[in-house]
Amino acid sequence: MRTKYAAGNWKMNKTFEEGKILFSEVTNMVKDELVNPNVKVVMGVPFPYLSSFANLINTEKVALAAQNCHPKASGAYTGETSVPMLKSVGVSYVIIGHSERREYFEESDAFIAQKVDSILAEELTPIFCCGETLAQREDGVHFDFVRGQLSNSLFHLSADALKKVVIAYEPIWAIGTGVTASSEQAQEMHKVLRDHLASKYGQEVADEVSILYGGSVKPNNAEELFAQPDVDGGLVGGASLDSRGFTDIAKSFPG
Ligand code: PEP
Repeated sequence: MRTKYAAGNWKMNKTFEEGKILFSEVTNMVKDELVNPNVKVVMGVPFPYLSSFANLINTEKVALAAQNCHPKASGAYTGETSVPMLKSVGVSYVIIGHSERREYFEESDAFIAQKVDSILAEELTPIFCCGETLAQREDGVHFDFVRGQLSNSLFHLSADALKKVVIAYEPIWAIGTGVTASSEQAQEMHKVLRDHLASKYGQEVADEVSILYGGSVKPNNAEELFAQPDVDGGLVGGASLDSRGFTDIAKSFPG
């Protein structure tokens, strides 16, 4: 059975003290309340907090994510953070290819592919984000566009390596807007993406890859989204900043 995820992306929010309270609250609630053994809660917190927050984790149900990385292991890249550095402070997941990084920092599919390789080389898990703009959806090119993002950044991987990637489908028009893709729209795209993986790697491999939905996931819509057969959880922005709500999202999986 595929691992199910409630993955939080705090983005550039919370001071250290505020973050410490939020992180501890989520960790404690998840430890006490989350009973589904197949669900993993991941929190993507700002870089300066990673090392300290790693020590707050008191349950295997919770893991720490970085929100970005540089593909090189070390060197003259002022201001950047490498995967070996992240690993050395207890990070196990790295969010890459988020639409905000693609848009504001002009990150290309090829650059993101290099990040995938550097994360897997350190045996960490990439959370690879993809998703179309509203204009692309309205033009009817959304399936091809997102398939292309997968092909360009993931299809150089072996089947064994691909199985270690978590994919997050995040339609850009739904991120931070309060507009959620309907559960039918999410399921439709997730199925398209799983079929695309199957066309390259075979169905058995495709069936092992967790595909998360991101875009205004909230406690009141998570249950319906997570009930879809190809939706393996959520990458959650705004709603991950509230400990009660985020924990409730993690408790929204069927079974
Ligand atoms: C995100 O930033 O990955 C995201 C999905 O944000 P939100 O949940 O706020 O739409």
